[in-house]
Amino acid sequence: MKSITSFTQPQITIEGMSLNLGIAHGHAYMYDPKYAGDIQLSIEQKVKIFLQAVNKAVELCDSNIAIRQEQNQELILVQKTLLQDPAWQQRVIDKIDDNLIITHALDKVLEDIDIAFGGDSFWHARFQEVKGITQLVRQCLEGKAIYLSEKKPIVLCAKTISPVEMMQFDQANLVAMVVEDNSFLSHGMIIARSRGIPVVGGVIELKKFINNHDELLVDGDLGRIYVRPPSAVIANYDTSKKPQFSKPSDAANNGTVISRDGTPVHLLINANLSEDLECLERSTIKGVGLYRTEIPFMMSERWPDVETQTRLYLQVMNKAKKKSVVFRALDVGGDKTFQSLHKSFKNTQKGWRNSRFTLQRPSLIRLQLRAMIRARASCDYPDLPLHIMFPMISEAQEMRFVRALIQKELDREKNLGHEVPKIIRIGAMIEVPSVLFQLNQFLDLVDFISIGSNDLFQFFYAIDRADAVMSRRYDFLSKAFMQMLKTIIDQANAKNVSVSLCGEMASRPLEAMALLGIGLRHFSINPNSVEAIENMVQSLDIWSIQDCMSDCLSDTPFAYKAAHLSIRERVMELAQIQQTQLS
Ligand code: PEP
Ligand code: MG
Repeated sequence: MKSITSFTQPQITIEGMSLNLGIAHGHAYMYDPKYAGDIQLSIEQKVKIFLQAVNKAVELCDSNIAIRQEQNQELILVQKTLLQDPAWQQRVIDKIDDNLIITHALDKVLEDIDIAFGGDSFWHARFQEVKGITQLVRQCLEGKAIYLSEKKPIVLCAKTISPVEMMQFDQANLVAMVVEDNSFLSHGMIIARSRGIPVVGGVIELKKFINNHDELLVDGDLGRIYVRPPSAVIANYDTSKKPQFSKPSDAANNGTVISRDGTPVHLLINANLSEDLECLERSTIKGVGLYRTEIPFMMSERWPDVETQTRLYLQVMNKAKKKSVVFRALDVGGDKTFQSLHKSFKNTQKGWRNSRFTLQRPSLIRLQLRAMIRARASCDYPDLPLHIMFPMISEAQEMRFVRALIQKELDREKNLGHEVPKIIRIGAMIEVPSVLFQLNQFLDLVDFISIGSNDLFQFFYAIDRADAVMSRRYDFLSKAFMQMLKTIIDQANAKNVSVSLCGEMASRPLEAMALLGIGLRHFSINPNSVEAIENMVQSLDIWSIQDCMSDCLSDTPFAYKAAHLSIRERVMELAQIQQTQLS
């Protein structure tokens, strides 16, 4: 956070840092993970806590009745009766059974009443009463006053937001986020980016400056928040401006964007939820380069069964039509926690994450492979290849192991007399540096690779990707990191193995420009960055960035520049000379 400037009180402007672009206007929801921590609890524990909070609320009513005037006593008595209404309690418990955290279960019950009886005056009064007890129980859960379940745009304010926490909110009302952390690479931020939600980060001790319900104007472009903004400031901003996709109609694009000097570049998207697939209608998009299979199931209490998974993958394949989809096998751990899977082991960035975890529990991954195989064989396009990609592979041996699992599943399906996909393409993410020291051998075991630069960067520099200070200490465009990426790309090209990059750096025009300079031609990017990357490619002569990068990475770079400018500065300088669009 840079500075805090006071207007005439109570308006203030907070300068943070932009984690995602866009402008939005809404009311602060101060999200406190202490009280939302019930995400990790079992349903039984949540029900118990809910009933304890109800009892506390009833006690509160009793003590209020004792001290209030007669008229108010009647209102409080109504509240007490409602709190003790078994039908209302059961409705909330049913919502908790559906895997909602307690506060959202309370809100959903309230919302149901509102939706069912919207215009009716009797039910309006009843709604107000239930709203009162909802608020009371929430206060008892949390020990303080918090947001009411009103249908207004929410700006989620928190220390940090994990994907599970974010997805608990009604996405239609979630217009922006303000966070204390400033990690560009956390999965909460990645999902916010793909959904076009503006985010300002690096706001230290935000509770000191923002109260629950405060009106906020969030400028994700400048990394600025106006708290209780004057109407003149609001009038200056067009908050209705959302990233719009104009669909290029030229079907001849055929999944490519052509650079100014005529080189085809292939763009794919990273998809987290099915909404992201809408971008596939764009003719320049070749397909999905990374489908994060764990995200749609993160809200589930239990890891979904084969039928549920098959249904989802089938929907995705049918929505993608003839475009390819790379399904990434389960990638849990780090900031992607699952209630049912994470009870039995310690979850750390460098622990039992992703493939290590699933290889330890092969039954889990086999169910997922079975669902993928069944979905491809029964979708509308059964002749297309099934692409499966494994994350966090650290040794060639692990790749052999997962290939054998796929074979077992195929044999099983055939023995059962089921159809299987005609072509299966098996890939790996390059995210752990150890693989680089056996790359030749490794490339013989895969049909394609995708560089997971978010994780590769953290393991390369021994930093935590969620540690904002450290991730700013080192640069994606450092000579060492770029040299490593070039080695991977060169070796994959030499072996004719298709190589893409699906980390967030591919979605940033300047970084993507540098990647083009080291020979990358397949980019799997955030749906919201498509237009920016297309514009960059179309306004770039690739030969010039190739020259620039080969000089930057050589042992004897152009002396003056090497001494004075970083790779980032040199790429920026070239973009200015070439008038390459970087936004
Ligand atoms: C990566 O690590 O670069 C990647 C794309 O995977 P994720 O961000 O889901 O870990
Ligand atoms: Mg990763």
